[in-house]
Amino acid sequence: MASGKIMRYAAMLRSGEITSVKLTEAYLEKISVLNPEINAYVSVNAEKALASAKEADAMISRGEGYVLTGIPFGIKDNIATKGEETTCCSRILKGYRPTYNATVYERLVERGAVVLGKNNMDEFAMGSSTETSCYGAAYNPHDKGHVPGGSSGGGAAAVAAGLAAYTLGSDTGGSIRQPAAFCGVVGLKPTYGAVSRYGLIAYGSSLDQIGPIASSVEDAAIVFDAIKGADKRDQTSSGGTEPTVDKLDGNVKGLRIGIAEEYFDGISADTLAGVRKAIDFYAGSGAEIVKVSLPMLKDALPVYYIIACAEASSNLGRYDGIRYGYRAARYDDVNDMIMRTRSEGFGREVKRRIMLGTYVLSSGYFDAYYKKALRLRESIVTAFTKIFAECDVLIAPVAPTTAFPVNYTADNMIETYMSDICTVPVNIAGLPAISVPCGKDGKNLPVGMQIIGKKFDELTVLRAAYAYERAGLTDVSLDTGVTL
Ligand code: GLN
Repeated sequence: MASGKIMRYAAMLRSGEITSVKLTEAYLEKISVLNPEINAYVSVNAEKALASAKEADAMISRGEGYVLTGIPFGIKDNIATKGEETTCCSRILKGYRPTYNATVYERLVERGAVVLGKNNMDEFAMGSSTETSCYGAAYNPHDKGHVPGGSSGGGAAAVAAGLAAYTLGSDTGGSIRQPAAFCGVVGLKPTYGAVSRYGLIAYGSSLDQIGPIASSVEDAAIVFDAIKGADKRDQTSSGGTEPTVDKLDGNVKGLRIGIAEEYFDGISADTLAGVRKAIDFYAGSGAEIVKVSLPMLKDALPVYYIIACAEASSNLGRYDGIRYGYRAARYDDVNDMIMRTRSEGFGREVKRRIMLGTYVLSSGYFDAYYKKALRLRESIVTAFTKIFAECDVLIAPVAPTTAFPVNYTADNMIETYMSDICTVPVNIAGLPAISVPCGKDGKNLPVGMQIIGKKFDELTVLRAAYAYERAGLTDVSLDTGVTL
């Protein structure tokens, strides 16, 4: 049965069976053996990790520890960590060391959590395979001939391979949930605003959210509890601080689970089978299955790609060679310097999206694309509000297929964009959703199901997911542990 790692480590740290230094050394050792093959980390700071582990041990011995104290984690390379390279895995930010910490990072470090390093990702979080990173691709620990998903592929691969107890990722259109599904782990995309975005390098600011990737629902709930809540440095953040983890009991009696058939169109047979089996479990456990309809689902993809690219074209305007990171070596004047820096510093996919975004925002096209997308976004929000009058959560696949083969994405760009169909609606509407493993396909690759909830109702999402986990149905193995 899949069980939480965090509680187990926390108990071992308190009983004196292990120390945080030992645990951290064990993770660092495993990273040094496996990371060259998986490329889940783009930087590891062993010295810093061991120093924090020492402090954590002292905290625990003084009886001051919190449940995450002394437990090692990884963090996506687009989340600012003071003095440590934070590059979004882009050449243009190589060498950039933020002068401040992201709020989520600060909240974990204040609790004595131990950061191991930064996780690999698609450049600027634009992608679904973690193959556009300037540090090279990451690989799926279940089968290195396949991708780990993206854009938080490094973080998901790290958890699956046991190279961190948990990681923090970001999700603009599926980047926590899809890699979690591809790697057979749990990923929670919180409600827009439930977790501070301060210090998250922006991609699509109205869609971006930070959330945990973990090896169990319980662990995801613990990390979510630690990072959530209002932050005066992010005016879009809010939400209460009631812990969710205490309320996970495995009971789904009377829970109304909505099934929108539109989510199941064009889904591969193996994925369908996994998700349907999960739905049967809920039906058999006393939940009420409600048929609902989301005809607007087909509009979600164009709406997402128009809004995300528009916001990205504006957000990425700041990388000009003057303020951060990379600057072209040779240029004639300032304009030439900016042009060369951006041409050389950004990868193909990032440039494509900046151009797309600039196009949909340009005069003459603004009304036809951007404004129309905003109007459709409102209709999608309304459609979800109506659905959630009839049910408490929705269950859907996370992605139409399991992990793509390595190198598939580069030649199948449109198909890759289309594979975001099941994840982007949640970001458009700002809803919380979790990705939970629900079996394997014929190639032995993990399948994920998605549980979507009402705004700020992570609790119901987590409770539903936990019921499946407690029944022992989420385990797709790997992570053979660390040697202590
Ligand atoms: N795959 C989506 C994209 O390429 C989602 C990315 C994300 O959530 N950061 O934009």
